[in-house]
Amino acid sequence: MTTFIAVLYIISFALFIYGLMGLTGPRTAVRGNWIAAVGMGIAVIATLLTPGMGNWLLIALGVAIGVVVGVPSARKVKMTAMPQMVALFNGVGGGAVALIAWVEFRTTEGYAHEPAYVAIASLFAAIVGSVSFWGSNIAFGKLQELISGRPITLGKLQQPVNALVLIAAIVLAVVIASGGDAELLMIGLLVAAGILGVVVVLPIGGADMPVVISLLNALTGLSAAAMGLALDNTALIVAGMIVGASGSILTNLMAKAMNRSIPAIVAGGFGGGTAVASGGSGEARPVRSTSASDTAIQMAYANKVVVVPGYGMAVAQAQHVVREMAKLLEAKGITVAYAIHPVAGRMPGHMNVLLAEADVPYEQLKEMDEINSEFAQTDVALVIGANDVTNPAAETDPGSPIYGMPILKVNHSRSVIVLKRGMSSGFAGIDNELFYDAKTSMLFGDAKSSVGEIVEELKAL
Ligand code: NDP
Repeated sequence: MTTFIAVLYIISFALFIYGLMGLTGPRTAVRGNWIAAVGMGIAVIATLLTPGMGNWLLIALGVAIGVVVGVPSARKVKMTAMPQMVALFNGVGGGAVALIAWVEFRTTEGYAHEPAYVAIASLFAAIVGSVSFWGSNIAFGKLQELISGRPITLGKLQQPVNALVLIAAIVLAVVIASGGDAELLMIGLLVAAGILGVVVVLPIGGADMPVVISLLNALTGLSAAAMGLALDNTALIVAGMIVGASGSILTNLMAKAMNRSIPAIVAGGFGGGTAVASGGSGEARPVRSTSASDTAIQMAYANKVVVVPGYGMAVAQAQHVVREMAKLLEAKGITVAYAIHPVAGRMPGHMNVLLAEADVPYEQLKEMDEINSEFAQTDVALVIGANDVTNPAAETDPGSPIYGMPILKVNHSRSVIVLKRGMSSGFAGIDNELFYDAKTSMLFGDAKSSVGEIVEELKAL
């Protein structure tokens, strides 16, 4: 039986890795996801076949609750709400690890009778799992806009408080590892780690959430791997390490794209200290508005148009009509390209996925570094529901929470047309000077309807 279980585990790991390879491109991603899910199914079966699994009724109940909650919510979730769902599911993973560490503590009556590596791995898993659970819940709250996307800080007390709860968690872990078996110690450790998760994520501003989400993801993976080590469960070690490693690589990539340092996140929020966020909608500064017909005429006489998609295009589901518009422009001999900011939208690769869905040729998608040098030769930059990723404050205002973040330099083009519904701010909650720039015109309305109207005007020209 042991050999059979080991073989099942090896098959499932191979499927995880093969599935992960499929996630490297939007066209193979769905198949990759299925392959990895089958791998996970096999790993679960292998674990259930392990002798002495325990109470079958409780296991069946757990599986039933997971299915009843997980399947409908995953089926019903809107594409734009996916990031908060990922944050929530990721948090649940971390929470499960922390609970397993607690249960193990109870069954073995403290870790005094266990080998040192079991104690260390379990306590690491408990701390990191709890940080991940509570941190992910705060991230969920911010993404769902239940909590403000702006940094919520304790001011000067932030760093001392962060340090204090971290030290408290470590001291409790040391006491437990050296023989402390009172349950209150373990509860204290989980609470301290939970507070740490909350106080680390709260001060992080909206624009910096992508880095935090992938960091929390990596943490959940690492905590699961550590717990697998303590429980001698190969599936947990391998799956945990895959999540931990890929999450760490993603965190690094996102931090680089945002020009942020990862240690600065952990040290108590980051991103230019005191934010001078104005929220955008309250101020009555004049902007120039335009119409669909003027936009169509302006583009029809251009040589080069760059589409700058953002979260608003995802909300409006405007990608198909945008593709139709681009085809009409191309038929008139106009060069069309798409400027892709690494954190546009609400998840990594969000714009790539949407545009691939609308069959936009891959060669027309230009990464930020490449397109930024082309804006000076661009006649019209058509900003569709993008806001933060075009905000010049990232370059000009050291007090801004997004200061230092690389942006799409749309203001270098000859003219800018911004499609959005009103003057609301983006996820970072800050005003955007671009909208008041002399060469910017605003085309107000839902992105899909506005682009639809532009398409009709272009057809009539
Ligand atoms: P933003 O969130 O900055 O702005 C989106 C804009 O779209 C809003 O200002 C809104 O204005 C507009 N909008 C919303 N609905 C519509 C609609 N139906 N039609 C037209 N416009 C609409 O988006 P960006 O893509 O520029 O930036 C992404 C932000 O999200 C960054 O701050 C990034 O750091 C953050 N983030 C990114 C993640 C990622 O992994 N990509 C994850 C988490 C956060 P109005 O309401 O006036 O229409």
